[in-house]
Amino acid sequence: MDRKLIKDIIHSKKLPTNIPDCVTFSRNIFIPVTNVCRNRCQYCGFRQPIDAGEAYLLSKEDVKGILGKNKSATEALFTFGERPEEIPKFKEWLGDLGYSKMVDYLVDLSKMAIDSGLLPHSNMGLLSYDELELLKPLNASMGLMLETTATLSIHERSPGKDPKKRIQTICDAGKLNIPFTTGILIGIGESWEDRIDSLLKIGDLHVRYGHIQEIIIQPFTPKPGTKMSECPPPSFDDIKKTVAIAHEILPKEVHIQVPPNLTSPYELVLCGASDLGGVSEQTIDYINPESEWPSQRKLMEMMQGINLKERLPIYPLFIKKGWYSDEISNLIRKYSDKKGFRKN
Ligand code: SF4
Repeated sequence: MDRKLIKDIIHSKKLPTNIPDCVTFSRNIFIPVTNVCRNRCQYCGFRQPIDAGEAYLLSKEDVKGILGKNKSATEALFTFGERPEEIPKFKEWLGDLGYSKMVDYLVDLSKMAIDSGLLPHSNMGLLSYDELELLKPLNASMGLMLETTATLSIHERSPGKDPKKRIQTICDAGKLNIPFTTGILIGIGESWEDRIDSLLKIGDLHVRYGHIQEIIIQPFTPKPGTKMSECPPPSFDDIKKTVAIAHEILPKEVHIQVPPNLTSPYELVLCGASDLGGVSEQTIDYINPESEWPSQRKLMEMMQGINLKERLPIYPLFIKKGWYSDEISNLIRKYSDKKGFRKN
């Protein structure tokens, strides 16, 4: 890494311009299985206390109903609060569905998604090596945000946000050859050094295992009713600089993803982003419900002439490398073209 160049980016008013051959996106069906979580991140507007009327756990029937909405997606995006079964009342809810562990429930939900023609991508929070191994054959890719390598007070009641533990899960996914999505959350009290350190760490993990398909640069957005509701989000200038630094630090095959419903993506693409993540036509962004997904037509307009290509939840490179199981190979063949993008 060229430290001087990184310093120049932080202090510069003019950033290096990059025009990629194409920018990618995927289509998903968003399935927020539960909003109960053992952590208490101070910016989170998704988690609900177990006794609040808003806390829930989706049943198989609920999930079947959501999967049935699919018209054109290739991905079933399963999201969760982390290790909710550590909360006794939740364990009862899960027991009522016939399970004692969320990971076993996800195995069956993933099979349902595959049977309905969708490729699962799940993000359960921290997982052990054995849990990742169990889920691997049923997932086209998996994800866990590193968020930051810094120890921050906003995570003081979130045992799962210990950076060492998150790095361990990402590392274990690498040992298992799981195509993986991670990312950093910016504007939560971390310094520029922390951001650079987090990006370097992710880059190192990819150099060791070759499994990071994309890294999300996610800006913090204040949510009403949270401890950080009055905190300002990062400036657009800071987001652009972070994307430019990520572009400098990360190996070129690691795509930089920016969420098109939380940012203005064209300028970020010029700074080095090359993916717009999963957008959903039938379901909302449950983590940021106030921010609507743009349609494909809108995404094309946003890209101002840069080629926009649809991909699957597993990137072309990993399809080429054969990093998927027999359980999902039919779907990958059905959906991908010769180069590994979505077939027209
Ligand atoms: S781990 Fe995720 S769901 Fe749980 S409190 Fe933190 S941000 Fe919210």
